[in-house]
Amino acid sequence: MVPELRKDPISGTWVIIASERSKRPNDFAGPNEKKKGGFCPFCYGNEDKTPPELLAYRAPGLEANRSGWSVRVVPNKFAAVQTEGELNPQTNNLYQTMNAIGAHEVVIESPDHNASLGSLPAAQAERVVRALCERYRAIAHDSRIQYIQIFKNSGGVAGASLEHSHWQIIAIPLVPEAVEREIANSREHYAVHRKCLFCDLLSQELEDNRRIVDQGEDFFIFCPYASRFPYELWIAPKNHLSNFGEMGERELAGLARAVKLAAGKLETAFNNPPYNIVLHTVPVQKGPELYYHWHLEILPRLTITAGFEWGTGYFINPTSPEMAAQVLRDIQLAQGEPENNQGGT
Ligand SMILES: [Zn+2]
Ligand SMILES: [Zn+2]
Ligand SMILES: [Zn+2]
Repeated sequence: MVPELRKDPISGTWVIIASERSKRPNDFAGPNEKKKGGFCPFCYGNEDKTPPELLAYRAPGLEANRSGWSVRVVPNKFAAVQTEGELNPQTNNLYQTMNAIGAHEVVIESPDHNASLGSLPAAQAERVVRALCERYRAIAHDSRIQYIQIFKNSGGVAGASLEHSHWQIIAIPLVPEAVEREIANSREHYAVHRKCLFCDLLSQELEDNRRIVDQGEDFFIFCPYASRFPYELWIAPKNHLSNFGEMGERELAGLARAVKLAAGKLETAFNNPPYNIVLHTVPVQKGPELYYHWHLEILPRLTITAGFEWGTGYFINPTSPEMAAQVLRDIQLAQGEPENNQGGT
């Protein structure tokens, strides 16, 4: 296939799919970092090395900030934003300033230092998703906040500074540009077609079927048409939902299954590669919206973001999403997996 420029309708960004340089899993040497162990503030017994917990799941009767939890949420000790204070925007000639008000939290995924997202028991994955959603809802009450960014850095190359598997939540008093762009594109589509862009995209993907990796009852996992990264995966609810915080019990279980399955496939295919997961959802001060559809983007870090990408904002992806989806569909996970309902064969 000759290199192709593809445009993602959601982000509006172009990508060069240069798949004559097509790469199979083994072609990526992959930095598959081994965990080193050593002192870890997220392990049992070190609860006093983090700020006091904001949320934790543990058996009734057990004391807070002690061992015995299954998921634990704490403020980030080295927070990028401060929780106290009022917004104070100022302009000094060309420069604008605002105090960085918000929240910066860490969601510790499991007491097991060596666990990875893909290897969590199903019930534990569900607790993780539940904790993310609970914190999302709690932070959303803060009227100073415009956006709650939930994300995960897995592996040093992907920016994780601690190897014990965790998620982070950074709430900020701004709507990120990436989300603004997605909203603008979605709004434009809605204005013309009276339908959600993402819902339309999902039904088109379902019909095409080449990029679907898996579908459970409530969630799709697919490689986006204009994937920026090799083996990029998006997870989206099948039903129209604009707000991550709106999830009910059924969606929580469905999302946990999808996230665990997607991470498990990547971890198996590439021997624990570094990856990022980011949430895109409607800004907190907006109600549920008909035109916007929340989703998770999983970005494996198998290639290096270099000069062309930084200069243009456009990515070169050597792996076509059609091939990536096929490889990932074929990955069989070890026992203990829920039944693997592959993309509508
Ligand atoms: Zn640990
Ligand atoms: Zn939708
Ligand atoms: Zn997005």
